[in-house]
Amino acid sequence: MKILAVFGSTGSIGCNTLEVVRRHSGHFAVRYLTGNSNAELLAAQVREFRPAAVAVSDPAARAQVLADVGDITQVLDSDDALTEIAGREDYDTMVSSLVGFAGLLPTVTAIRAGKTIALANKETLVVAGEIITALTREHGVALLPIDSEHSAIQQCIVGEPSHSVARILLTASGGPFRGWTSDALQAVTPAQALRHPNWSMGSKITIDSATMMNKGLEVIEAHWLFGVAPAQIDVVVHPQSIIHSMVEFSDGSVKAQLGVPDMKIPIHYALTYPDRLAADYERLDIARIGTLTFESPDVEAFPCLRLAYDALHAGGTAPACLNAANEVAVAAFLRGEITFPRIAELIEESLSHVPHGAAASIEDIIDADRSTRAWAEAHISQTDFQPTTG
Ligand code: NDP
Ligand code: MG
Repeated sequence: MKILAVFGSTGSIGCNTLEVVRRHSGHFAVRYLTGNSNAELLAAQVREFRPAAVAVSDPAARAQVLADVGDITQVLDSDDALTEIAGREDYDTMVSSLVGFAGLLPTVTAIRAGKTIALANKETLVVAGEIITALTREHGVALLPIDSEHSAIQQCIVGEPSHSVARILLTASGGPFRGWTSDALQAVTPAQALRHPNWSMGSKITIDSATMMNKGLEVIEAHWLFGVAPAQIDVVVHPQSIIHSMVEFSDGSVKAQLGVPDMKIPIHYALTYPDRLAADYERLDIARIGTLTFESPDVEAFPCLRLAYDALHAGGTAPACLNAANEVAVAAFLRGEITFPRIAELIEESLSHVPHGAAASIEDIIDADRSTRAWAEAHISQTDFQPTTG
């Protein structure tokens, strides 16, 4: 029986994780849950899973959860409740599925406490990859990817000698605007960008998929998870999202991992690794799918991918700067304040204007995040911006 702490249980990955638990209740117990604003859903999860305690980041939602289910669980009443839970002794595995920079400190705390980490929150590795990988080695902690591409890569390289990995081929769906020109992208609305062709996910990662920043973040994530150089990580657009990624070995052989696009499968793999617990998720009917296609990414229309490689090459706090500017830009786009192409512009401007340096400590990362957010917030607008509707 694995005892879980599900961070971000009210989100897309959190809900999928709880569905995996529901289907395999003899194998998992849920000791802790955390949410931010969705008090109603968190209260329903508390009634079903009976955790020992919950953290609710938003104060108004916290009061509502306390009123609803305070008699059946402890509702922690402090602003550092997330890190307090992360550091507790009585759970085995953290499901790290907060969105964005908010995931960093709880995940670091759980690593320091020696927990196994099932990692969905890729931003943690993007902003502090070197520190995180050093900490996992120091504390003997397993970092098991939930991201479908990285789960695929892990499944391809398991049992292979590490020196034999020649190249990683990260697959990308291309998002809702695959094939669009830069001009056409000027008029994109939040509602259009939130309509992902293959995956149902939280709003931030859905916009990241539309700009292809998600793939850029995943390049950085793959670099730290698998210790491969940036030049050995290529991105290939594969609109059907059936091949979740591929690994080329030193003898020229290429392995791919396939499956229906369902996040429960990589979550299940991370939670049951190194075993493969039988499950009845939807099976892949490859004959019905018929055709799998591949093309190169369009880095002219989708510059975020190039910006992520640039930040990875620059090193130090540059990836933290990339991430912070992206979070500010995506939030502004979702509020209807900037155009879709302005997201990449604001990130590029932030990367060139905010000084970056060594990322020797978590404090360096927090400083870089804070100063980039301040700079990006102050430079959100562009003079020729026309608000979009919808
Ligand atoms: P969601 O937006 O659906 O969920 C985010 C979760 O974090 C929710 O529980 C939310 O609470 C909580 N949360 C949001 N902001 C804060 C904050 N400031 N402090 C504390 N908690 C907060 O995101 P996803 O589940 O889509 O994504 C989670 C992570 O997993 C991201 O890093 C994403 O890149 C990664 N990922 C997601 C995939 C997917 O299929 N969704 C696939 C691969 C990776 P509430 O809802 O109560 O406000
Ligand atoms: Mg992914």
